[in-house]
Amino acid sequence: MEDKGKQELTETKEERIKRMSRERASRWRANNKERHASYTRQWRSGNRDKARKHSRDNYVKNTPQHRVHSSVFKALASGRLSKPNACERCGLSAPDLHAHHEDYQKRLAVKWLCRDCHAEVHTRKAVAI
Ligand SMILES: [Zn+2]
Ligand SMILES: [Zn+2]
Repeated sequence: MEDKGKQELTETKEERIKRMSRERASRWRANNKERHASYTRQWRSGNRDKARKHSRDNYVKNTPQHRVHSSVFKALASGRLSKPNACERCGLSAPDLHAHHEDYQKRLAVKWLCRDCHAEVHTRKAVAI
């Protein structure tokens, strides 16, 4: 490791100015997290196309879940899987039970939950059903 003083001596004046402003910028970001976030928001509204691409990328990341859900629907249609009339957690009968996966690797291991239980399971992240 070169010691820092020596490194600074070998820097040209321009390099030094660049380094200082870089350091100042990262210090500023660390001290102004909120403001930095609002600049990011501003940037997004001024760069809608880029921001849209950003969220498209996130959408692509979600596709394994979409694939799992579509295999659940296929299994329902073919009769391999059947949807109960009542929530498996609280017993409420609801026409629109949600298919909840504890493990997305097991595509057809589904818990049928009412909307409230489903939300609760996800907020708690504890799966005591
Ligand atoms: Zn429920
Ligand atoms: Zn779920």
